[in-house]
Amino acid sequence: MYQSCNSVETEEEQCSEPPGILAVAQPGYRPKSPPSKPKASSNWNDWKWQIKNRIRTFDQLVSFLPGLAGKTELQQVIQKYPMAVTPYYASLIQRPDISDPVFMMSVPQTEELFNPVCLSEDPLEEHKDMPVPGMVHRYQDRALVIATTTCSCYCRHCTRKRIAGTRECSISVHRLQQITEYLLAHPEISDVIVSGGDPLTMSTDSLEAVLSALRSIPTVQIIRIGTRVPVVLPMRITDELVEMLRRYHPIWINTHFNHPNELTEESMQACAKLADAGIPLGNQSVLLKGINDSPQIIERLCRGLIRNRVRPYYLYQCDLVRGVEHFRTPLSKGIEIMEYMRGRVSGMAIPTFVVDAPHGGGKIPILPNYVISMSPTNTVIRNYEGMMVNYPEPGGIGQQAAEGRELPNPGVWELASGRASIIQPSNTSRGQRRRRLVEKQKTASGFECGSLFDA
Ligand code: SF4
Repeated sequence: MYQSCNSVETEEEQCSEPPGILAVAQPGYRPKSPPSKPKASSNWNDWKWQIKNRIRTFDQLVSFLPGLAGKTELQQVIQKYPMAVTPYYASLIQRPDISDPVFMMSVPQTEELFNPVCLSEDPLEEHKDMPVPGMVHRYQDRALVIATTTCSCYCRHCTRKRIAGTRECSISVHRLQQITEYLLAHPEISDVIVSGGDPLTMSTDSLEAVLSALRSIPTVQIIRIGTRVPVVLPMRITDELVEMLRRYHPIWINTHFNHPNELTEESMQACAKLADAGIPLGNQSVLLKGINDSPQIIERLCRGLIRNRVRPYYLYQCDLVRGVEHFRTPLSKGIEIMEYMRGRVSGMAIPTFVVDAPHGGGKIPILPNYVISMSPTNTVIRNYEGMMVNYPEPGGIGQQAAEGRELPNPGVWELASGRASIIQPSNTSRGQRRRRLVEKQKTASGFECGSLFDA
């Protein structure tokens, strides 16, 4: 998952079988409308079939998207950064070009080979926070376990392009034992994130072995799973998997939807199954140029998620990782989106915009500036409309200063010094509603606060 995996580069891992041939692509097919499910295939809803039939090679890609036939340089990209697209996720491509968000997130681009000097393979310096190979211990009370390097789809914007899919391996018994010992020796770690790669690409039994080992540690309170499976392989959320997961509660799942086009009936059913099993769902999106770097797209995404019981959790600024320069947006874009969302969308549906700091500094929230000015007695803050108010500090000094000294045309200093308490923009929709309400109260006899409740 995004912000999740690390290297488990040892000889001890168990590699999965090589991927199978592409079965979904029909020669000459152009996905103007969603690709049809393979003829006579009753396997579409079989997640193992989906994994086996991922688009993995340039030839397979071209047979699915013939328009890319001349782009042989993509082979170089695929060699450096592996490609995998499940037939299901490929079917969400509506236009075979960079105007399509699913195409952009799944089909390699030559831009991945362009790397300004500010980018690096491991900008978060995760390897320096890895006391046991396959486990990151960065924050005091949390640790992250790399359960696999396999994903069902290899996102072109992945922050761990150096690892994801270079080998498709799962954690070994020996490595899991080492991690368990570390966690036992560090009781301050109460929250463990199982990540990768994508842990839900593992067999149910293999994943259960990891969860069982973690749950056996008395000091581990919360287990979280980071996965993009509900987005790219929703048929993996089987009854069998859900039944297994609920045995290890409290389990939380963070998924990775980036665009409203990913909110399909199938993906929402997958989320519903998890939520019905009592698993709280969060979503971690990445801000991606040309894909979701628009306030309205993020609004649609977040509204769709919350409607389906998935809480928007983080909106990540793209990391300074090699191969993703073409996806990076200026920080100001994220701030603009946050500015748009606040006040317009319920706080429940607003993710925290964060930069995962280079050099392993961890997540830093970035917000529009809501603090306008300060004095020892008052802090001036603003809301989404541009209304400014003073917040009197405790002790009554500021409050006393404001009382009885309202000025007709206050400036910020008058608020900060307690001489006035509000600067209100005229004609906001909220202001209009209030005025209408006052008029109504004047004309409607008997309507007062005291009459809110029937006698
Ligand atoms: S699911 Fe995508 S973002 Fe997550 S680890 Fe795999 S390739 Fe990277």
